[in-house]
Amino acid sequence: MTTTSEQAVRKAELKKDTKALADVVTPIDWNDAPTDPWKCSVCDKMNRNYLPTTSALFGGDGPKWIQGACQHCEKKFREEQLKVKENEKKEERRSRILSLHERAALPKEMAFIKFADLEVRSGAEEAFTELSNIGEDRTWICLLGDNSVGKSRLLAATSNRQIGLLNPTLYLNESLFFKGVRESWDGDGEQKLMSIFKLPDIVLWDEFSFFNYLERSWIYERVYAILEQLAEMDKKVIFASNVMNIRKQKEDDSMSLEGRCGKRIWARLQRRRTKYIKMINEPFF
Ligand SMILES: [Zn+2]
Repeated sequence: MTTTSEQAVRKAELKKDTKALADVVTPIDWNDAPTDPWKCSVCDKMNRNYLPTTSALFGGDGPKWIQGACQHCEKKFREEQLKVKENEKKEERRSRILSLHERAALPKEMAFIKFADLEVRSGAEEAFTELSNIGEDRTWICLLGDNSVGKSRLLAATSNRQIGLLNPTLYLNESLFFKGVRESWDGDGEQKLMSIFKLPDIVLWDEFSFFNYLERSWIYERVYAILEQLAEMDKKVIFASNVMNIRKQKEDDSMSLEGRCGKRIWARLQRRRTKYIKMINEPFF
């Protein structure tokens, strides 16, 4: 019969790892392990590791050492597991990018434009450099330039690069946008309109010109509300406008961005310290 203290000692011993336990029950001299290499029956490669058998540990007849686990097979298994995980990650990234492309809402003809495809013309360098290197900076940017200087293509390349970096973007242009604004006039449309701005980190707002909008105050109110929300959510907004003047020259200068935007939106842009970058048209280049 064993005493309680003997049982306690045995329990404590069982908790130790095999090697320690082996040393307690029957001292194992690991130098006694065979040194001859053995061949793995799975991969045919040679190993030299052995493990003590239960006979070696607890006393008894029979072989004292058995072959351990094949080091080569174990390594291969670990590598395969790692590869599976990497592929899963790649697949996840791929499907995330696809869904970001869908949500970015770029027009089809702009979906594949890359910075590498763009010709950097003189007069477009600053805009190109600024948009190809967007980091964490949330400053708003407004590209100003005549039609056909490549503002939309630059916005598209920006969208595609950012999506590649897994940063969600959203592309808006006047016709797309005001269809949404019109629809938002009924029912729960407004909430729906606002909700599309939640996901994107970067909003690319093309054709930002406000022609005639000042006369339709309800549209103006919506646009102002959206800009307020974008500022509050600290989104990066990049506008493109074909208006060339930034500041009003005269009180009623409707050809300036300030004149077109109206007081409140202009003030919103200023509060956000919007950076204005001109893109100069180079005809016959
Ligand atoms: Zn093997």
